[in-house]
Amino acid sequence: MLRKRALVAIWIAALAACRAVQERSSSAAPADRPYVLVLGSAQDGGLPQLGCEDAPCAAARVEPARRRLVTSLLLCDPRSGKRWLFDCTPDIGAQLERARGHPATRTTEGPRPPLFDGLFLTHAHAGHYGGLLALGREAYAARELATWVTPRFARFLAGNGPWSLLVEERRLVLHELAGLEEGDGLDLDDVGKRVELAPDLFVVPFLVPHRDEFSDTVGFEIHGPERTLVYLPDIDKWEAWDAFGNAPTPRRIEALLARCDVALLDGCFFADGEIPGRSMADIPHPFIRESIERFSSLPSPERAKVFFTHLNHTNPAADERGLAARQVRACGLQVLDEGRLFGL
Ligand SMILES: [Zn+2]
Ligand SMILES: [Zn+2]
Repeated sequence: MLRKRALVAIWIAALAACRAVQERSSSAAPADRPYVLVLGSAQDGGLPQLGCEDAPCAAARVEPARRRLVTSLLLCDPRSGKRWLFDCTPDIGAQLERARGHPATRTTEGPRPPLFDGLFLTHAHAGHYGGLLALGREAYAARELATWVTPRFARFLAGNGPWSLLVEERRLVLHELAGLEEGDGLDLDDVGKRVELAPDLFVVPFLVPHRDEFSDTVGFEIHGPERTLVYLPDIDKWEAWDAFGNAPTPRRIEALLARCDVALLDGCFFADGEIPGRSMADIPHPFIRESIERFSSLPSPERAKVFFTHLNHTNPAADERGLAARQVRACGLQVLDEGRLFGL
């Protein structure tokens, strides 16, 4: 009986915490403080995915509401009219349409105004920087767009075509995220130096263990005047992070959750065995099932901060009306929906 009462109390607390987060992430864009607009929530291949005839992809072709664009965020500051893109995806065309009017105070002049005031890129996997090609001479021909990447990612872009042409022609101006390389003065939490966008708005990168063929990988903390949002679309496994890097203390997802208000986290796959005929050890991500289990010991306000993003086309939680998404919500966590706004 007591156990049942305790469970009901936990459930009510979880619902209240969810409601609090939802209220703070309402659908109206704040006019007086920065906010984040979710432009995409799918894994690099999008939903529907090329050549996939399975039910979720087939349904998404028929019903646009089931479609998910590749993971990306727009950070807007209505006080200055500025905006910054986080990850530049192959879906950038559709995402620019979604970004129209954000922020409402944005004014642009001339025939080819800047699309953004800067780009922040997490890593060199197709979905996270493939859209850069649309900024080149053959398409938008951007001019001197500030692009924040790790030093290794900067070397890759500057040293390899076709990206190098974007750098040579100053379509992009690369800015290296500082404080992330070994011997570069890491602090206790193994995070890099902040990039200031306004006196009370700044971005802090942090290193993440992830397949690193061409670049290393970062996530971003976006600190606003009142709230902090974490963007962490790709990580190999939470356990890989527990003993990662050269910081004296292990970096743990729980520590990151403790110091943010909203966390958009890697929810690529729901469970093992999701991709027939392919070893999922080759493409490690925390399964949502593993995250549910790991986060189950956290208090409900901590769990209510979590929104899963970077959903693979095979992930049953991508269907917000389905059983898997309901399971996620029943555990006090959420699946990220596109178009959502988070006030900072
Ligand atoms: Zn990815
Ligand atoms: Zn990746």
